Amino acid sequence: MREINGKTRTSGLIGNPVEHTMSPMIHNFLAEELGIDMTYVPFHVEKGALDTAVKGAYSLNVLGCNVTVPYKSDVMESLVALDDIAEKIGAVNTLVRVEGGYKGYNTDITGLLRALKSEGIVLENEEVIVLGAGGVGRAVAFMCAVNGASKVYLLNRTIEKAEHIAEEVNCKVGTQCVEAWRMEEYDKLPDKKYLVIQATSVGLFPKVDEVVLEDEAFYKRVKAGYDLIYTPWETKFMKLVKKQGGQAYNGLKMLLFQAVDAFELWNECKVPDESAYKAYELLQQAVTKR
Ligand code: NAP
Repeated sequence: MREINGKTRTSGLIGNPVEHTMSPMIHNFLAEELGIDMTYVPFHVEKGALDTAVKGAYSLNVLGCNVTVPYKSDVMESLVALDDIAEKIGAVNTLVRVEGGYKGYNTDITGLLRALKSEGIVLENEEVIVLGAGGVGRAVAFMCAVNGASKVYLLNRTIEKAEHIAEEVNCKVGTQCVEAWRMEEYDKLPDKKYLVIQATSVGLFPKVDEVVLEDEAFYKRVKAGYDLIYTPWETKFMKLVKKQGGQAYNGLKMLLFQAVDAFELWNECKVPDESAYKAYELLQQAVTKR
């Protein structure tokens, strides 16, 4: 059992709800594994109390925090600095202690990029379909554009949201590669093989029999499908991708690497691959037990 003493640094997760988070498991494991005197706890923050929570954390000498739903955009107002990517995406999930307050980063996106790379998936010159234009779909579209995707087809049920994001990302990145499409128009996409990133909330536990697109013809065009959902371990989207011969991945490595990136920022260290994979095994056990 790790000793908590007067020198132990505190980090944590700001959100509402936070009760089901797996982040403490990752960070407390990494701290122990790397011999770093840091502990990580959930902070349930009520609506209206976000700014006082961030300022209070600073006063309490908290080393850093993650931020989750529903505060990833609102928290930006309480920070003293923003990383370039987080500013462009308009969402922050990691606060790093600096002089006078916290600087905001988006390790959801750097973590997703690292997760894709770990599976041998590159975005450069790739044509990507992104399903979903919510908070994460927006960040994913941005990530694809910044990392050299030749085309990003952003499909969403509510077309206006996809259009807004496409316009914003193209303008900020200085490209025209992001196109907004209605979800139901998937069959009009050019007939080729795509990397597909599933960024809707459809198929998330307990509604595991749902999927945003059912048509098998769509899955014939998927060479690799990356679902950001990780509960269940294998989503219906993943099953449909595999059935047509594509590679399918869940979002657990995104969760892992967003945490690893935050841990490295807070502790100014490099987490060895071996330690990251031990943390991944822990997560995998926890998810498959659920
Ligand atoms: P969000 O902002 O609520 O967006 C939800 C998206 O799903 C929107 O595009 C929405 O379309 C679409 N959607 C919901 N119900 C639908 C339905 N019945 N039919 C078609 N589309 C539907 O959520 P988010 O924050 O972007 O999160 C999206 C997913 O990413 C969640 O499942 C979350 O668990 C996952 N995630 C994973 C990680 C990770 O570390 N792996 C991190 C963050 C999030 P409309 O715009 O038309 O409503």
